[in-house]
Amino acid sequence: MPDTAPNSWEARAAAHSFYGFTDLPSVRARGTVVVSHGEGPYVVDTNGRRYLDANSGLWNMVAGFDHAGLAEAAQEQYARLPGYHAFFGRMSDQTVMLSERLVEVSPFARGRVFYTNSGSEANDTMLKMLWFLGRAEGQPERRKILTRVNGYHGVTVAAASMTGKPYNDLFGLPLPGFIHLTCPHYWREGREDETETQFTARLAAELEEVIAREGAETIAGFVAEPVMGAGGVIPPSAGYFQAIGPILKRHGIPLIADEVICGFGRTGEVWGCQTYDFTPDAIISSKALTAGYFPMGAVILGPELADRLQAAAEDAEDFPHGFTASGHPVGCAIALKAIDVVLNEGLLDNVRALTPRFEAGLARLAEHPNIGEWRGKGLMGALEAVADKTTKTPFPGKLSVSERIANTCTDHGLICRPLGQSIVLCPPFILTDAQMDEMFDKLEGALKQVFAEVGAG
Ligand SMILES: *Cc1c(COP(=O)(O)O)cnc(C)c1O
Repeated sequence: MPDTAPNSWEARAAAHSFYGFTDLPSVRARGTVVVSHGEGPYVVDTNGRRYLDANSGLWNMVAGFDHAGLAEAAQEQYARLPGYHAFFGRMSDQTVMLSERLVEVSPFARGRVFYTNSGSEANDTMLKMLWFLGRAEGQPERRKILTRVNGYHGVTVAAASMTGKPYNDLFGLPLPGFIHLTCPHYWREGREDETETQFTARLAAELEEVIAREGAETIAGFVAEPVMGAGGVIPPSAGYFQAIGPILKRHGIPLIADEVICGFGRTGEVWGCQTYDFTPDAIISSKALTAGYFPMGAVILGPELADRLQAAAEDAEDFPHGFTASGHPVGCAIALKAIDVVLNEGLLDNVRALTPRFEAGLARLAEHPNIGEWRGKGLMGALEAVADKTTKTPFPGKLSVSERIANTCTDHGLICRPLGQSIVLCPPFILTDAQMDEMFDKLEGALKQVFAEVGAG
């Protein structure tokens, strides 16, 4: 029960904050968890309760909640130059260094970087770049954007239009010109008697059909997460990017990898496109870019798009776009440190070392009759709850099974996230074996409790 005294943190949060992406009946019944500080992969609330955050905040706090080096990088930069912009031919030295570093760690031999405050803004920026390019190159009708059902690209008007989630209908979105293709989730979308290879081929054929129907000359780009994150941790079906990549190339449609979650190690390589062995034309980055210690996003353009955009901007004499805090020096200093922490201080190594234990833990819990499948890559995974494993029948929505599992986990000191009918795990990269075992033990207890409560299994 929430503390309802008027001066409690719970009551104060409920009185004056407007919640986003929050199940309101649930928060009304349970109260808000008001977090005051963190210790490694744990957060501590205002009642002194500790939670292992198996979601790394929102996928981003990969170095944990008290990394001294990241805090120092911020403090040093605040003392040196606490803020600046990147307009009118000026930018901070930190911004210059971060762009060099991002191109260096990118899969591109060369490229250019543009900064935003979030992943959504980076996606919107990417679209404006593609639209700007179409007009500059005499193809102003090249405006349509292809994404996938269940893809998540953010919440600003264009990024929400790219996102393939039904809730966007509550806003009258998507805008016209945003086309959502089939989600490459073989377990859910594959037809009976269809092999995974055939499934992938069907999605490639669908892409060909959509391009033929719409006209390649009207399509500005295809944007895809290497592994879908907020769609429920959905790795692509086998050979997916190898099948669609050549089709897009043949039709002159840029492939944009939304690496906001996958980027910087989550899938076991620096980039998700490296894990899945394809080369996009540009990368969208955010979240782990600063290890969550500063709001920042980036568009990283590969060589061809960088050259074409540079030429288009030279012709127009200006690319009239940018945010007041684009390339913020403190954000850049933190990102430089975060990249170092992930690549050189053992975090990426730890992702690789932990992955077998993570997969074994997911596979063990997936033996339960009410878990339909486990899926994942590197340190991102999901367990999908089902009422019937053979027919893959979901639980009735009104039972809110995944919400109940997550709430029961919270009661036992574990934060994990319900997404549709699945439970998502994406722990910080600093996790120890013992902390991983704690995560699975607590989740197992919650699964057993909730499945018993709803009369399943
Ligand atoms: C979180 C996310 C975004 C949006 O980033 P915000 O910083 O929340 O705007 C975009 N794309 C993907 C893949 C994401 O996971």
